[in-house]
Amino acid sequence: MVRTPSLNPEHPIPIAVLVGAGPGDLGLFTIAGSRALSFAAVVIYDALANPDLLAFCSSDAELIYVGKRARQHTLTQPEINALLVKKCRECMLRPDYPNRCVVRLKGGDPFVFGRGGEEAQALAQAQIPFQIIPGITAGIAGPAYAGIPVTHRDFTSTVTFITGHPQDESSGKSPGADAGDEVANVNYPALAKLGGTLVFYMGVKNLPDITQRLIAYGLNADTPAAVVRMATYPEQQTITGTVKTIAQLAQKAGIKAPAITIIGKVVSVRDQINWFETRPLFGQTILVTRTRQQASQLGDQLRDLGAKVIEAPTIEIAKPTDRKAALAAVQSMGDYDCVVFTSANGVDSAHQAMIALDMDARDFTACVAAIGPATANALEAIGIIPEIVSPDAVSEELAVELISYFGRADHAKETETATLDLSGYRFLLLRAEIARPSLVEMLRNAGATVDDVPIYQTRIPESLPENAIEALQNGAVNWITFTSASTAKNLFTMLPENLRLAVGKCNRLSIGPTTSRALAELGWPATLEARHHDIPGMVAAMVDQTPPSVGPRAS
Ligand code: SAH
Repeated sequence: MVRTPSLNPEHPIPIAVLVGAGPGDLGLFTIAGSRALSFAAVVIYDALANPDLLAFCSSDAELIYVGKRARQHTLTQPEINALLVKKCRECMLRPDYPNRCVVRLKGGDPFVFGRGGEEAQALAQAQIPFQIIPGITAGIAGPAYAGIPVTHRDFTSTVTFITGHPQDESSGKSPGADAGDEVANVNYPALAKLGGTLVFYMGVKNLPDITQRLIAYGLNADTPAAVVRMATYPEQQTITGTVKTIAQLAQKAGIKAPAITIIGKVVSVRDQINWFETRPLFGQTILVTRTRQQASQLGDQLRDLGAKVIEAPTIEIAKPTDRKAALAAVQSMGDYDCVVFTSANGVDSAHQAMIALDMDARDFTACVAAIGPATANALEAIGIIPEIVSPDAVSEELAVELISYFGRADHAKETETATLDLSGYRFLLLRAEIARPSLVEMLRNAGATVDDVPIYQTRIPESLPENAIEALQNGAVNWITFTSASTAKNLFTMLPENLRLAVGKCNRLSIGPTTSRALAELGWPATLEARHHDIPGMVAAMVDQTPPSVGPRAS
């Protein structure tokens, strides 16, 4: 009998959690799943679970891969069950138990061709409390992302999920030890008679056999069919045909696992509602060069438009050389009339210093100023609303704002900004180690006392991430984005000669004239310069430039 999971009242979740990873797109992962991963002391995961999900784990989690790997022993299902039970027992002995759990992370849904049933049985037998968190199965997500509704009032009211794994006729069992192997005993005559929508998992290799059987047992050979590979990923590829032609078409297109095959009249609806593969940047691979934090803002927008984004940080934010002085300055912020931030990085670094000093937003007694909206947003994100924000991220503009704000408060008379007097006012600037001097000079010329304290320094990272190097080497990158002259110069410094040549062959998108000049000097002239020199401007420029026919669109 399956044991009901008994929740320790102090324990957030049962010791073992079988989590469905969904089909790939991170946005389709459940909130419950991400919560379980954040508690995980151990994660046992398969090849089909998107490895990016592991970012939800804490850094001390033990990550155990049990999927197939070339030239390496693959664990059998009983071995995986035993490992799961063993890790749960170990976890219960940890000092941080009951606040930790063991997550078994499986592609799609754990109970749909995932052998999750057997793993839950093994846990029940070992009297280990467990929980099941379903995931969106590939047989639902694949058709949805290919623009194929699995049911439709005009076409069918049944949908059948079937394993297409080759059958072992003698035993009725499927050979191999794939996590997805189930007992494959499929009643093809019944399927051919039922028709409706048929969704085959694991059927790529076996597609000729599957389709021949269906036709032999009476399914109309002209029934529409589709194969969706790497569903929900930016690499998604869809082939359409009929039951008669689909096996050959898939083979010709070189379709490999993982792929879902959909057979039924509903496939024809794709012509009208193929939404995913028709997004403006679908099929484009874009290398985004920036700091990791900033890269995600641009990266997210490009991903939303369908691009495959590879982040290649070319600037690293590091602690300042004189860390003590930075901490002392943050601690004494209350002694100043105004604390000035000139970048989101400065805000992040000050925030980290505040955490180290056990301070929070309430310790901000001084007036706060920010250069431009991005810095203001970074402040708001940590609970600080700046009183003064310059319209653009330009030092001189911010100086004028500050002078007019404080000067007016002091003299309350209508005078030219430049003649306003700031004597007696103390400003603290928390900036980069190498920052332009104009802001300090303008404030001092107006009579203010200014402490300009480096709160961080920028460095060139040692190397690019593996996937970025690989994509450049393989000529797989369509666009590289440059958001400042330093992203260009640093990328050049970080790359060996052969990859510099590879960059020369990609399209290069520049944020504006200064960056374009730097690119030209490096021998990488910008292919395109954004008309509006900001992130939305860059995104718009790329969308305008990408012809609708580019990428693996509707087949
Ligand atoms: N438990 C999983 C299925 C595991 S069986 C689920 O619920 O989705 C493995 C098969 O799932 C693959 O052979 C393939 O048919 C299908 N599959 C999984 N992820 C897929 C994806 N992103 N795109 C297409 N098919 C996928």
